[in-house]
Amino acid sequence: MNQRRTKIVATLGPATDDPGVLDKIIEAGVDVVRINFSHGTDAEHIARAERVRDRASAHGRQIGVLCDLQGPKIRIEKFREGKVELKEGDTFFLDTQFDVNNGDERGVAVSYADLPHDVKRGDNLLLDDGRLVLWVDHVEGSAVHCRVVVGGRLSNRKGINLQGGGLSAAALTDKDRADIRTAAAMEADYVAVSFPRSAADIHLARQLLQEAGGKGGIIAKIERAEALLVIDEIIDASDAVMIARGDLGVEIGDAALPPVQKDIIHRARCKNRVVMTATQMMESMIENQIPTRAEVFDVANSVLDGTDAVMLSAETATGRYPDKAIAAMHRVCLEAEKQSVARVSDHRIHTEFHFTDEAIAMASMYIANHLNVRAIAALTESGSTTLWMSRISSLIPIYAMTRHVETRRKVTLYRGVYPVSFDSTLTTDHALMNREAIDELRRRGAVRDGDLVIITKGDLMGVHGGTNAMKIVRVGELV
Ligand code: PEP
Repeated sequence: MNQRRTKIVATLGPATDDPGVLDKIIEAGVDVVRINFSHGTDAEHIARAERVRDRASAHGRQIGVLCDLQGPKIRIEKFREGKVELKEGDTFFLDTQFDVNNGDERGVAVSYADLPHDVKRGDNLLLDDGRLVLWVDHVEGSAVHCRVVVGGRLSNRKGINLQGGGLSAAALTDKDRADIRTAAAMEADYVAVSFPRSAADIHLARQLLQEAGGKGGIIAKIERAEALLVIDEIIDASDAVMIARGDLGVEIGDAALPPVQKDIIHRARCKNRVVMTATQMMESMIENQIPTRAEVFDVANSVLDGTDAVMLSAETATGRYPDKAIAAMHRVCLEAEKQSVARVSDHRIHTEFHFTDEAIAMASMYIANHLNVRAIAALTESGSTTLWMSRISSLIPIYAMTRHVETRRKVTLYRGVYPVSFDSTLTTDHALMNREAIDELRRRGAVRDGDLVIITKGDLMGVHGGTNAMKIVRVGELV
């Protein structure tokens, strides 16, 4: 079986706008595209989403659209000359009242008014993703006076993080609120909230999206040290979490990232949530045609940790080889998925189930992993049966067979789940429906005569949460 289970998310950008590149990344196997609201205009975002859906349907594929909100990234303002060179031992101030265009080697303005309240003597401020480090000497009114610990070039609008966390800007800015409305109008399949501090940030984003008519899932980007303190509440509030290793690594230190990644993946799966691993996965492929050995190991290890999806950022948005980066991820994921740890599962062996459809999902996976089954055909409305199923490590493909395009797009992020357009409300004759579902899988080359297939469905088709039956059938025999 040569079907990749781990999903690949690719960030769109100028590189994927080049003629032909979108087709190439679709052919290379992208599952979900990420539209980064930190860059570009509404018109550009809308046009990109439309092009993706258009090209995906030309390729007979379903591709999810993820809108990633900018969030309250705290930034310095601008330098008179566009940049300065800071040397170790120099003094440098960050001032919330300073002229926003007039920074120089003495100091620069900051957009975040609470900075002087949130820092104290002895704190380390990390600029430009941690490339420069400023030690806080003292705070005076609106100015934070620092000494340069690690120097280098600092240019306009670079980000600031406080080592250990603690810069407490509210997660949803006015721009984010407007962008949520745009995401709803784009029928985004997922909206990612940047820098959430609590479950309340996620609930608010969901409320705003629903008020705007959006049906997408909400993704919490875990990128603040504070978020780790309430990680269970944040995961519970979200449909999916993204381990945003860029900003998170700046706040908690790069060495702390690997155990945190493993822990978040484990927690998310246990809580029946989707989890994505992001940032610098194939970073060197921004310039190079092949990944480094370290990148190969990083992607493979994320797969072995149990991630649903691996994400590409600049590799596809601005890099030279977007399709090759996806192709490299594809082959690394496929190989990693052959390891036994990616196939066996003791997930929920000792837990109770709360719903009938959940119990059917769990029982199906138990059988699938213990009987030589070729595929699972889950006749589903919302896709929740397939989400439960996909929390169990397995090699058996799970086909989410649904009439709803929103569901088909949502499952593009679930590990081991593949969307199939299928209307199970067209007949009430269950034998006929079984045959049609099998025929659809046969047409796709997913099953052959003699294969065993598990079908899950509800007595009353077309009802959310209605799955209450499971049937094991042999393809080609009377079903
Ligand atoms: C990150 O910080 O790792 C991340 C994914 O966020 P962004 O790319 O939006 O900065």
